[in-house]
Amino acid sequence: MDLRKTLFLAAALAGAAALVAPTRIAAAEPTGQITILYDAFGTDAAMKKDWGFSALVEISGKRILFDTGNDPDIFAANVKAKNIDLTNIDFVVLSHRHSDHMAGLNHVLSKNPTVKIYAPREGFGIYGSSLPSSFYRKDESLPPEMRYYDGKPPEVMKFGTAWQGANIELVDKTTEIAPGITLIALVSDAPGTKELKELSLAVNTADGVVLVVGCAHPGIEKIVEAATAINPKIRLIAGGFHLVVAPDEVIAKAVAALKDTFKVENIAPGHCTGEPTFAALKRAYGDRYLYAGVGTSLPLGPGVGSVGRRGEGPAIQDDLATYRKLAQREDPFGILKARNLRSGLSHL
Ligand SMILES: [Zn+2]
Ligand SMILES: [Zn+2]
Repeated sequence: MDLRKTLFLAAALAGAAALVAPTRIAAAEPTGQITILYDAFGTDAAMKKDWGFSALVEISGKRILFDTGNDPDIFAANVKAKNIDLTNIDFVVLSHRHSDHMAGLNHVLSKNPTVKIYAPREGFGIYGSSLPSSFYRKDESLPPEMRYYDGKPPEVMKFGTAWQGANIELVDKTTEIAPGITLIALVSDAPGTKELKELSLAVNTADGVVLVVGCAHPGIEKIVEAATAINPKIRLIAGGFHLVVAPDEVIAKAVAALKDTFKVENIAPGHCTGEPTFAALKRAYGDRYLYAGVGTSLPLGPGVGSVGRRGEGPAIQDDLATYRKLAQREDPFGILKARNLRSGLSHL
């Protein structure tokens, strides 16, 4: 073969390799991860712990910031500790209007003022809203000075937001905002948070739905039920399940619903899930309970829970190792000890 032919062949092969390479790289890449940026428990010494929730969800080629924590300075410090570039996120989801989920938004806006923010639509809420002026009753017998807008209201009345100029898109009902990425919109019916609207993030993948919840005020079971309408296979739920003060029987019911009714495959509870619920879920899920303290990155490779077991997920491997160590103890979470202590105290 002469030199020209050899060079031509080499160039052709390089070209073919260039065409093939991106596909191969894409296939080899992990399909994403969830990094917990804000919570009140965790083992990462570089992260500050505080009540609240935030997670960076990298999935289906998108970088989604889900909630922004409770304290802007702690949120900023944790984002920095994890080297997260807030200028490079596709959008923010604010699950609901409780301050332990949105206090870091000003920090996000200081880095990325035009980022798209999805928030629940609430009348007169802090995310801003609007109503047709037909909503209020009119009385045309009144003189103009006693009438709203002198009797000539604008067709749509706009109500301000706490983040003037922010690119907020209000979500009223369950909406697929990008292919396979759905915001589940539900309303709480629980005393204390009645009529509170909340968004949960459901990402449909080839292995089922990855569901991220903020506080689950509408009820974790209701949210999961809504997610099963997208795909009955629920691969992972991460976030707060709001069982922090729930009695044992309510916890047991929720755990049974997740495991037996909805057959949720993996569980990564955090935030307001509650300590007794962590324990109950750990008992029910074993190795498929994915530790998700602040600073943890949960890899979302194929078959979430099995990734760590096969040792392919370095981030979660440490957590699983810790769990295995704990599980080998007779009383992994100190539950029996705490019970004995409690029953001891009740005799006093
Ligand atoms: Zn919360
Ligand atoms: Zn809340």
